[in-house]
Amino acid sequence: MSENKIPYKIYLEENEIPKAWYNMRADMKNKPAPLLNPGTLEPMKAEELSGVFCEELVAQELDNDTAYFEIPKEIRDYYKMYRPSPLMRAYRLEEKLGTPAKIYYKFEGNNTSGSHKLNSAIAQAYYAKKQGLKGVTTETGAGQWGTALSMACAYFGLDCKVYMVKVSYEQKPFRREVMRTYGASVTPSPSMETAIGRKILEKHPGTTGSLGCAISEAVEVATTNEGYRYVLGSVLNQVLLHQSVIGLETKAALDKYGIKADMIIGCAGGGSNLGGLIAPFMGEKLRGEKDYRIIAVEPASCPSFTRGTFAYDFCDTGMVCPLAKMYTLGSDFIPAPNHAGGLRYHGMSSILSQLYADGYMEAVSVKQTDVFEAAEQFARTEGILPAPESSHAIKAAIDEALKCKETGEEKTIVFGLTGTGYFDMVAYEKFHEGEMSDYIPTDEEIAKNIANLPKVE
Ligand SMILES: *Cc1c(COP(=O)(O)O)cnc(C)c1O
Repeated sequence: MSENKIPYKIYLEENEIPKAWYNMRADMKNKPAPLLNPGTLEPMKAEELSGVFCEELVAQELDNDTAYFEIPKEIRDYYKMYRPSPLMRAYRLEEKLGTPAKIYYKFEGNNTSGSHKLNSAIAQAYYAKKQGLKGVTTETGAGQWGTALSMACAYFGLDCKVYMVKVSYEQKPFRREVMRTYGASVTPSPSMETAIGRKILEKHPGTTGSLGCAISEAVEVATTNEGYRYVLGSVLNQVLLHQSVIGLETKAALDKYGIKADMIIGCAGGGSNLGGLIAPFMGEKLRGEKDYRIIAVEPASCPSFTRGTFAYDFCDTGMVCPLAKMYTLGSDFIPAPNHAGGLRYHGMSSILSQLYADGYMEAVSVKQTDVFEAAEQFARTEGILPAPESSHAIKAAIDEALKCKETGEEKTIVFGLTGTGYFDMVAYEKFHEGEMSDYIPTDEEIAKNIANLPKVE
């Protein structure tokens, strides 16, 4: 198909929404390392995990062999309300950059939660309902995951208890109100409702909380209340599986127009959008059918891939959750307080960590102010106000397009635009006022946290 026939927006038909999720693990020679019980250091068994997570999600979590999981009709029906999401050709950005590169982005911000997180939230809520549960608990930091989950729970009639890091609860009242609109209860964490919360408050009165602490509270509430389980919005294998809907749609849209991607770029916090976007492309790469450059983009202030260590670590700061083998900065690592761009998790998906260790993908880190500059350039040319997290991918895509300008190569770049930034205007304001800085941790700071990693042989 000749170039000028490619529209700004490539939409698939409703019946082209994938009917099955794709599990990259099935094609990996080196499987991701198993989760370990933090007490015994033995691989977690399904029985142990099913006290915390829904049964069918545990099965998905542990399955390294099944390549395709059928997407239940109920989930596909919900997907139809906001999917297929468009694959956009960034004609205006290309023109502005003066690059011969062709830039495409898959836009996941076209739903009320404003991000890709709804793709997994709706799946997790469905399996909880199917198991006959009353409700689910979770934590949220910036609020996107809590919002997506409350939408999903409202749809299936499940109770949803969200523990929101206190500082975000106070600073992002609108996120909180969106969740309450969908019927979720939102509790600032640490709270007096849980034993762990009371313990933390006694030790650190006046603390503004952390993600690790909110996780510990949500897990406690799930395991001590009949009919409740805990759900998580990133990092886990099951979440990457659900997010493969992003990559499968992207590939179908590219194939429809005979477009071959040269590189695929995505931002990486816990790795769920990136793992989902690259899934079918990585599958081809793993099976030796095709080759792509695959690039993870992370903040220079929280550089798990580029400066972390590949080792077993705790998934939470409270050290109650299982150990995962991943690129990590240490579970004590907390990004600098001036870091506004999200993607602040200390670790990374075990699947992506293994693929990175085996040389199947690259990683770059980018500075916060450069990210917001890219976000602004993107907003002005393409019209969409991007989430700061997504803007890491924009920055890397622009850098690659500018390299093409130097070499004259007409590369095809595909990146994931994970969401919109309407709730991040305080960060944008700081950028506009020149009050945003780039804090990059020193080698000593990183080494200090790495020295505290749990000892696992
Ligand atoms: C949560 C989030 C991310 C990062 O999470 P991943 O699991 O790494 O994908 C990126 N972009 C947006 C908009 C998010 O809400």
